[in-house]
Parts: sequence; structure tokens; C-alpha cells
Amino acid sequence: IDLETFQHESIFKQNNKYWFFEKSDDSFPGQAFGLQIVQILYHTKSPFQDILIFESLNFGNVLVLNGIIQCTEKDEFAYQELITHLPIMSHPNPKKVLVIGGGDCGVIRELIKHVEIGTVESITMVEIDDMVIKLSTKFLPEMAKFHNHPKVNLIIDDGFKFLKTTTEKFDIIITDSSDPEGPAEEFFQISYFKLLFNALHSQGIVIMQSSENIWLNLSYLKNLLKKAKTIFKNVKYSQCYMPSYTSGSLGLVIATNDESKQLMSPLRKFKPSLEAELFKYYNSKVHESSFVLPMWAQNELKN
Ligand code: SAM
Repeated sequence: IDLETFQHESIFKQNNKYWFFEKSDDSFPGQAFGLQIVQILYHTKSPFQDILIFESLNFGNVLVLNGIIQCTEKDEFAYQELITHLPIMSHPNPKKVLVIGGGDCGVIRELIKHVEIGTVESITMVEIDDMVIKLSTKFLPEMAKFHNHPKVNLIIDDGFKFLKTTTEKFDIIITDSSDPEGPAEEFFQISYFKLLFNALHSQGIVIMQSSENIWLNLSYLKNLLKKAKTIFKNVKYSQCYMPSYTSGSLGLVIATNDESKQLMSPLRKFKPSLEAELFKYYNSKVHESSFVLPMWAQNELKN
């Protein structure tokens, strides 16, 4: 795609350089995160969303849905590892895992590590947009390398709809969705927490990306946690360093109905040599520290 003639509302030219700017008048008015573009790799409008993939100058290839960055090759491991290993390592015996969304397949890559160790036995992923999976396979090969692993049951459907009709129960449900503007709108409501609850074993754990972080919108997060607490007895907020997300951090809401579960410290720990072999971001200390919030945020969120 020729950058000279390509028109997109997130792309700007300045001094003969092309920039992608992540902007949102609803979520973060008055600020933008920018990455310099080397080349546009792909652009399309699928039935669900605007999909843009570009090569950036120093964050590798970048996947953008509806103008919002989903992942970059440079820092994707931080998010993928935390959203996967927090619930898996907090559960005594996680066998059956459901992923809602997750089209870049990075969470699957992380889950396969637990399949290979012999803990996780089956992974079901329900992604609404098969274009995201196809394009990630091509342009984000390191993330999507296990999309057709024999333990992965891939369902192309609306995650909300799937949860309404499924009779299956899962040990872990990971909601790796995009932000509320677009097809993921319903994931941030009490009705969704109810559906998660119904599809979860009594000892099960759910985790979802919070779409905001403590710098952007603390009252939104407080409200999201409040919604989760109407359904789950034990709800905590974790965060990871993500330079490519606006404001540099991303929050995760983790919940279970088991009050005895210490979500904030791992129930199972790998020895340091295995951690070093498997992970780039996660270890048992990172698990614990991800729940430690700065004073002003702790006062509001009461982790
Ligand atoms: N790590 C990312 C983030 O937090 O920005 C999310 C990554 S993943 C690409 C998000 C996926 O959720 C997308 O592929 C999108 O198509 C999918 N998605 C959005 N709404 C959905 C729905 N209702 N059901 C299933 N998948 C959905």
C-alpha cells in the first residue's frame, strides 16, 4: 500500500514522515500515542471492524482495530503473559480453558506452554472476526504460531452469544477482547459477568482486560470492579507495563467466586530455571507485584 496515497483517519504526515496516532475522544480526549510508520502492510474493513496492520520504526509490526492498538511485536508478551499466567498459576488444576476474543492468538501461544507441561488439556477460543486470525498468522507469525494446534478448538462466533448458549463449564475464562467501542461493547457489563459466572466451575477463575488504566480513568475502573463484585465474591485488579498502550499500562480484572483463593499470589510456582525458560515477563514475584497499586489508585480501588 502506497503511503503517499493511503487515507486513514489515524495516519498523519509530518516533515515527510508518516505517523500513526491512537486517539479516542471518548476514552482519552486531548492526548494521543504515536508510532512512526515504515510501511502499511494491510488495511481492510471486515464486517466487524476496521483492521490496519503496519510496520513501525521501533515497535515491529502493529495490529490496530478501529484505530486502537491491539498489540505490537515489541511489547505484546507483557500483556499476553500476564493475562494468561495470572489465572493459570492461581488455579490448583486448570484443565479446561476458554478464550473469548484473542484473535492475534498470543494468549493461545502462552496457554500451549501449560499444555506442553501437561496441565491444560483443552483450549476453546471464540473469536468473532476470522480476518484477525488470518492476518495475524501472516503478519504476527510469532504470536499466531499455535492457532491450529490440535488442543485448540477455534470457534468463529460472537463470544457473548457463545456464552449464552454453551452448557460447558470451564476452569479458566480469559476475555482477551478489544475495547468497548465496537463488537466488544457488551463485555464490560454486569450481564457479561453473569454469563462468565454461569460458564465457570465453582473453583474457576476469570480474567479480562479492563480497557482503561489508573491514569486514564480511575472512576471507570472503580465502576467496572463494582460491577464484577456484584457477581463474584473475590475480585482484584492487576496491571502491566505496556509502552504501546495509551498511558503506558494496561489493567486486568481477575475474579473468582472462591473466597479462599489468594489471587494476588500464585498458588503454584515454577522453579526459577523453568520460569526463565518459559517466560519473558511473568514470574511469581511479577505476579504479586502486579497487584500492588500506587497510593492514590489503591485508595480508590481497594485491592
Ligand atoms: N490485547 C488486545 C487489547 O487489549 O487491546 C486485545 C487483542 S485481540 C486482537 C481482541 C479480539 O477481540 C479481536 O480480534 C476482536 O475481533 C475480538 N472481539 C471483539 N468483540 C468480540 C466478540 N463480541 N466476540 C468474540 N470476539 C470479539
